[in-house]
Amino acid sequence: MDFRLTPEQEALKREFEEFFKEEMKKAPPGWSGSMESMFSEEGFPFHRQMAKKLAEKGWLVRPWPKEYGGQDAPIIEQLIFSEVLGYYRGAGVDIFGVGMLGPTLLAAGSEEQKREHLPPIARAERFWCQGWSEPNAGSDLASLTTRAVRDGDDYIINGQKIWTSGAHHADWMFMLARTNPEEKRSRGLSFFLVDMKTPGITIRPLYSMEGSHLFNEVFFDDVRVPAKNMVGEENQGWAITRATMNFERSNVGQMSGLKRDLEELVEFCKETKWNGKTLAQNPFVRHQLAQLAIEIEAGRAMSYRIAWMQEKGGLLM
Ligand SMILES: Cc1cc2nc3c(=O)[nH]c(=O)nc-3n(C[C@H](O)[C@H](O)[C@H](O)COP(=O)(O)OP(=O)(O)OC[C@H]3O[C@@H](n4cnc5c(N)ncnc54)[C@H](O)[C@@H]3O)c2cc1C
Repeated sequence: MDFRLTPEQEALKREFEEFFKEEMKKAPPGWSGSMESMFSEEGFPFHRQMAKKLAEKGWLVRPWPKEYGGQDAPIIEQLIFSEVLGYYRGAGVDIFGVGMLGPTLLAAGSEEQKREHLPPIARAERFWCQGWSEPNAGSDLASLTTRAVRDGDDYIINGQKIWTSGAHHADWMFMLARTNPEEKRSRGLSFFLVDMKTPGITIRPLYSMEGSHLFNEVFFDDVRVPAKNMVGEENQGWAITRATMNFERSNVGQMSGLKRDLEELVEFCKETKWNGKTLAQNPFVRHQLAQLAIEIEAGRAMSYRIAWMQEKGGLLM
């Protein structure tokens, strides 16, 4: 693999950098680029506004096909974008819609679903949340019990989700529900797209100990969802979910965010004294910093490898 960027890619990177350097100066106080700041009362309007700006520039979903709002750009360009976004702790990218559901629909959605949902994501008009975890189904997600029962052209959903990040701002949710109660594990699950304004949905905030509002509980009481909103086949939702999880995990921007954290940590170590010497002079601290730098570089190399694999496999991130 060649890790060098072409002159055109370098120029694109500079354009992204200039944009984020300037725009992130307008971030509300306390902005850290974390999910907590993104979904906070002060952070979300800024996040949404930045999403609009990115959409207008055509940067939000560059590798998606043009017909769904993208630009058919090579994935490597999206990786460069994500790296710059991560480094500047940038706002504006809906990790659920842009990062997870969009690529999932491109890979497994029906033509109708792609046409209905991808363009509003590309225009930053529709924000998504992820309805997977339940009070008794976290790491063991396949044991979830939220139920979807077929009723004519609809499914009726009953149950509860938890840890639903940003549900209080989301327009739509992608979720898993059990369509076959005979199957206790992953084989009885289906993947649905649910409009958060549907009657029967109740969102209850879960505040963290330091007061931030990222998580929610979401309750479903006889929520009627059109059958056309099921992605893939009935009881095949686990395969779709695994694909979505892969898009979540590839999260290539993460490493440049860590690189920025490390740079700040190094500065701190240069300025902070302990026993008459700066921390940066302490061999043990230096060793730890070097180890972190190595791990971040390894992670970055892996990100490029994932992008390369996605490009080869025709998948989008
Ligand atoms: C920042 C953040 C955002 C999130 N956003 C969302 C979201 O938007 N939507 C959503 O659906 N979920 C979300 N989650 C939830 C997340 O995806 C996990 O499902 C959830 O955190 C894990 O479930 P749990 O909390 O019930 O932990 P548990 O599954 O109860 O696990 C608790 C601990 O036990 C360990 N453990 C579990 N099973 C075993 C085992 N068999 N053997 C040994 N150890 C075990 C785990 O490793 C963990 O350390 C989010 C989580 C975080 C941290």
